[in-house]
Amino acid sequence: MKKADIIVKADYVLKMDRDLTLIRKGAIAVKDKKIAFVGPSDEVAKKYTSDTIIGGEGKVAFPGLVNTHTHAAMVYFRGLADDLPLKVWLEEHIWPAEGKWLSPEFVGDAVELACLEMLKAGITVYNDMYFFGDAIAEATKRTGMRAVVGVGILDFPSKSARTTEEYFANAESFVRNWKGDELITPCIAPHAPYTCGPETLKKAKALSEKFGVPLHIHVSETQWEVNEILGLYKKRPVEHLESLGVLDNTVLAAHCIWVEDNEIELLAKRGVGVSHCMESNLKLASGFAPVAAMLAEGVKVTFGTDGVASNNDLNILSEMSTTAKVHKTLTKDPTALDAKTVLLMATRWGAEAIGLGSVTGSLEEGKAADIVLADLEKPHLVPLYDIYSHIVYAMNASDVETVLVNGKIVLNERKLTTADEAEILQKAKDWGRKVWSGNSH
Ligand SMILES: [Zn+2]
Repeated sequence: MKKADIIVKADYVLKMDRDLTLIRKGAIAVKDKKIAFVGPSDEVAKKYTSDTIIGGEGKVAFPGLVNTHTHAAMVYFRGLADDLPLKVWLEEHIWPAEGKWLSPEFVGDAVELACLEMLKAGITVYNDMYFFGDAIAEATKRTGMRAVVGVGILDFPSKSARTTEEYFANAESFVRNWKGDELITPCIAPHAPYTCGPETLKKAKALSEKFGVPLHIHVSETQWEVNEILGLYKKRPVEHLESLGVLDNTVLAAHCIWVEDNEIELLAKRGVGVSHCMESNLKLASGFAPVAAMLAEGVKVTFGTDGVASNNDLNILSEMSTTAKVHKTLTKDPTALDAKTVLLMATRWGAEAIGLGSVTGSLEEGKAADIVLADLEKPHLVPLYDIYSHIVYAMNASDVETVLVNGKIVLNERKLTTADEAEILQKAKDWGRKVWSGNSH
């Protein structure tokens, strides 16, 4: 008999592996931060004992959800400016607020709040693009969450750098600081083809190759962007990135709303991961990404929340439900984006798209123990015929009970174990008061 650090038991264990194995009355033995064994509960009991056995009847265990595109620190700007056209929202509200408030201290405090929100929604890893990467990474680690963190690169000055060279210097030192960390993966994040010129994009690609880290970029979020890039380079954004040699399977492209068939083919051919941010796109009226067409072509489409200023929450469960329904209607095909595919997009494919396919995204032996345990004893979850359907169409973030990241219980019966929740909320209110008093509302 072997000793496990933790044994997680559940009525349903969804491995989200290649065969989409579903175990009734299953258990997961966790040892040394990793999944040591997954199987029927009685089989696990024959091999492992543990002083810490959690879960049990009325629970479901599935892999931690993956948020493949966000700007976590923007939680402090939630609800500051809503119901506005994208350009006005961004240029008259968000950028001035960022220009005024961003600092390592602000970003670090905000990221703690974002991680708390994400963990309570069953998200165990997120892919970020923002400024002050060290503050993001340190705050994320304090909460025990996993993240891929990209320090934004732009061709114009911001609070974090004055010149393109300074952005690159920041990005490089950030990658050197964090490469090899067990929870934080650094990445290179040129903001978008319209905010980074061809030389900057090529340089960003070279840096990502030099260090063997992923590249995270916004692509084709608006029609304006497509027209701008067409006007400047006589190519559409995906074609433009292809011509610069940027596209391959280390790239995560956020949005990809205004992509045509040849661009979808390119994304599939190069193995580019796409982060679909349905609720942000709906709220900013940016358009509808051709998700069903991308999936049919073999593009790895995954879920992102984008920053909360345009969402307004960090909740992949609600993205899953909304996305499936919207694309069924758009394609006039209720069989499109079925529940199993949608949960795959939110778990294993998400992990693969951000370069963590061998680390997380499924409950398989040898992978990190990033596990969500949710309660099924809820009025909206009984009776239960199809567990995938319930998770995608009926489950709420508040049904998430316990979350493990890297073998550690970071959320225990909805209470954060790694930091003081009341303190995180208080800091948010204190910063909010400052932001509001300094805002020209
Ligand atoms: Zn974004």
